[in-house]
Amino acid sequence: MKLLEYEGKALLAKHGISIPAGALWPECPASGNGWVVKAQVLAGGRGKKGGILLASERKEVDEKAARLKGTMLGTEPVHAVYIEQKLDIAHEYYFAGFVNRDRGCVTLVASAAGGVDIEQVPKSQIESVDIDPLIGLAGFQIQRLKRALTLEAQLDKQIAAVMSGLYRTLVDEDAELVEINPLVLTRAGQLLAADAKIALDDDAVSRHPGRSGPVAWATDSAFMQRCRALDVIGVDNRNRMPPPARPTVAILGNGAGLTMATYDQIALSGVSVSGAIELHGALARGVAHTAEVIRAFFMLDADIYFINAFYQLRSTEALAQALVQAMTSPGAPGRERVVVRMRGVEQHSSERIVKEAGCFYSPSLREATERVLAVARSLDPRAKDGS
Ligand code: GDP
Ligand code: MN
Repeated sequence: MKLLEYEGKALLAKHGISIPAGALWPECPASGNGWVVKAQVLAGGRGKKGGILLASERKEVDEKAARLKGTMLGTEPVHAVYIEQKLDIAHEYYFAGFVNRDRGCVTLVASAAGGVDIEQVPKSQIESVDIDPLIGLAGFQIQRLKRALTLEAQLDKQIAAVMSGLYRTLVDEDAELVEINPLVLTRAGQLLAADAKIALDDDAVSRHPGRSGPVAWATDSAFMQRCRALDVIGVDNRNRMPPPARPTVAILGNGAGLTMATYDQIALSGVSVSGAIELHGALARGVAHTAEVIRAFFMLDADIYFINAFYQLRSTEALAQALVQAMTSPGAPGRERVVVRMRGVEQHSSERIVKEAGCFYSPSLREATERVLAVARSLDPRAKDGS
């Protein structure tokens, strides 16, 4: 998951790297030196595309920000506009770190030629250092990177803070890439991250259950954010291009294997899947928590909700009770649009509970799938046309 610049900067700041004073427009930081108006898009090269604008007066900030807000920068939507105090730049450096899969470690990269695409910088002007994961960033490696940046000795403390801060951001936040381009030296002798490009490892989401605050998952729907808050795995297809055609099915299962097999079975039958949830141990956290997960499931705004669960150790009854709780909440779908297949421990009492709630139940995957497809056909406008 890529972060927007301002989200990335919040992470850098958390790890001790200085960033310029900034705020999301219509807020505006104090500045005695003018501002930079920065379009927040999930792609680089904004400067060249007119996404980085200077403003010397507050009125100009508002004019330029209003012009950028909600538009497209090339092919990229402008998610927000970030206003920063303009820096008085003495030099622009390049500094980045990434997970180097070929070398099995984190590699840090530095160059005195910053502010341009690193691809355009000759190899001879780039220093790269592999970090042993067991040892971490060593003092001599900081020295090597520092030499590449040809920075003055009086900046030693700031340089070390930037380097270890970037390394910690990469490792502690489970990022795949952290790029500061440019790392700016101001005329006043301060080192600041003037830009930030961060990509987080999606597979590490479960290691950061508290990830919230300024770091929103920019491209994510409210559904995905809710899944993360509840510590379950969500799939949201609704923003894909082309969007799933109605009628759509949402799928909730336990275990990635069963959930994805159910997903594939529906998709291969020619019905669109709008999204899915893998319960991911939610049942262990009780009926009330699981009911919250099912409420999140209903956020997928599907025509049919298909629950397919198989528990050999835990009782399926808790899942049935959670469904009943969630069905009474505002925003719950009609009973005829919920199809349940549950197997395993206490299956029979689950069957009774689900049926009492008025939802379709079958212990058979075939029967449950046929039901899903029958409801889909009954809702399909094309089927009604007889075409
Ligand atoms: P990118 O084009 O998407 O990488 O956006 P950046 O945030 O890296 O900005 C591009 C360029 O704009 C930088 O390399 C700087 O030359 C310039 N720039 C950005 N912020 C400032 C600033 O505060 N002051 C000045 N003078 N220039 C800036
Ligand atoms: Mn940049």
